[in-house]
Amino acid sequence: MKTGIDELARFCKRKGFVFPTSEIYGGLQGFYDYGPLGVEIKNNIKQLFWNDFVTNNELIIGIEGSIITHPRVWVASQHVNKFLDIMVRCSSCGNTLKAETLIEAKTGIDIEGKSVSDIKEILKKHKLKCPKCNSLLTEVEEFRLMFETSIGPFKDENSKVYLRPETAQLIFADFRSVFQTSRLKLPFGIAQIGKAFRNEISPRNFLFRLREFEQFEIEFLVNPEKLNECPLYEKIKNKKINLADDNKQGYKALKIGELLKRKIFASKWHGYWLYSFFEWFKKYGISEKNLRLKPHTKEQLAHYAKACIDIEYRFPFGWKELHGNADRGLFDLSQHEKASKEKLSIYDEATSKKVLPYVAAEPSQGIERAMLAFLFEAYNFDKKRGYVVLKLHPKIVPVQVAVCPLVKKDGLPEKAKDVYAGIKGCFRCFYDESGSIGRRYARQDEIGTPYIVTIDYDTLKDNTVTIRDRNTTYQQRVKIEELNNKLWELINA
Ligand code: ATP
Repeated sequence: MKTGIDELARFCKRKGFVFPTSEIYGGLQGFYDYGPLGVEIKNNIKQLFWNDFVTNNELIIGIEGSIITHPRVWVASQHVNKFLDIMVRCSSCGNTLKAETLIEAKTGIDIEGKSVSDIKEILKKHKLKCPKCNSLLTEVEEFRLMFETSIGPFKDENSKVYLRPETAQLIFADFRSVFQTSRLKLPFGIAQIGKAFRNEISPRNFLFRLREFEQFEIEFLVNPEKLNECPLYEKIKNKKINLADDNKQGYKALKIGELLKRKIFASKWHGYWLYSFFEWFKKYGISEKNLRLKPHTKEQLAHYAKACIDIEYRFPFGWKELHGNADRGLFDLSQHEKASKEKLSIYDEATSKKVLPYVAAEPSQGIERAMLAFLFEAYNFDKKRGYVVLKLHPKIVPVQVAVCPLVKKDGLPEKAKDVYAGIKGCFRCFYDESGSIGRRYARQDEIGTPYIVTIDYDTLKDNTVTIRDRNTTYQQRVKIEELNNKLWELINA
């Protein structure tokens, strides 16, 4: 049976991975805190994104922008007037509900692109009632998703600022400085990882819909005349990728080249970046059958996007967006040029012309959604062992190697501490000598530790230890002098 979201949330709390913020005061809806092991998992995911797509990718460089940004950025990007959600308010009990969630659950109607009056009509036609007090719902209003705060001692219209609802705009606002100082040539990308804030009407599903979360975004910029000049495309055009379909599986595997021909990808670069992220999720443990591409319809497109495709994950509550990737075209840079009256075109050496770069792809990833998908994929109740075995990828786990003396006597702990000291600089290690060895194995399996090194009586005789594999419980014997290399091989296999 598939693990439910409540079961996973309870497990995360029990293990101290994630818990509601300031729980002693009752928590705050849509905000979570991360315990000692949870923060390691989250940091490892961020580090893997950064290493794979920024540090080890010569096309991408990174920045870190401020959370409170100049308010004119959000006027220029049109977030101030367009980043709105539609809310239904119960006139009897005051309950507020996100119109999209309510209407989709009760009627199956997709309300993307519908106006307030369309939604009033739907409520009336389907006689939708408040889930709390059962009164008929009639009141509908638009709601700005950005959190507001103010700068300085006086609070008025001039002091009003916003917490950023996406990291992307900082990349556009800083674009000219980054370009001038980095000696990059088109095409290139600018990436950022950082907090984003959205005053979601109904945060729910644990880490899926939060009010405070982190994003990893890349703006991939090309010469607008060279949208399809993507040398990397040749290598992937015959690879297959799952595209959403109404069949039983929920998708059909099609070649990348076929999707480009059908104009599902906006360009070769768009296809290239979607494929790269799809493969990235597979590399770190998400099974292909749980991933698919879902193109946005015209009505679903955000105000800035010319095209957008989501990578969806099969969550227990349905196929839902895990990652978004839009072709933002010239929208943002031209909006900022107009609003700031600063020139943002750059000199393109290849064509010897000044151009305003075109955002061919914007991979946009919520870190917590990625963490949630990895946790679902890894969570396995092992009937034989009688407890949860968390099969996270060895690069995501909080502890990579646990070191345990078989028993806490006869010189085994001393020897085990020596072994621990020899490897702890190379891997995320944990030393554990308390409780029975079976209990210690169980504790490590539950938090996902892929390898346990055990020091036993044979170690004292021949300087060998066992390495136990979390998934199979198989134990192999290796010499201590070879332990580092062996563990490195296993973790990087
Ligand atoms: P949704 O339709 O789920 O509200 P969105 O289309 O508004 O998402 P984007 O603006 O495309 O989301 O954001 C890019 C990514 O940021 C999403 O794919 C998701 O991983 C993450 N994200 C967006 N909103 C939230 C949120 N409220 N909580 C957690 N992650 C989020």
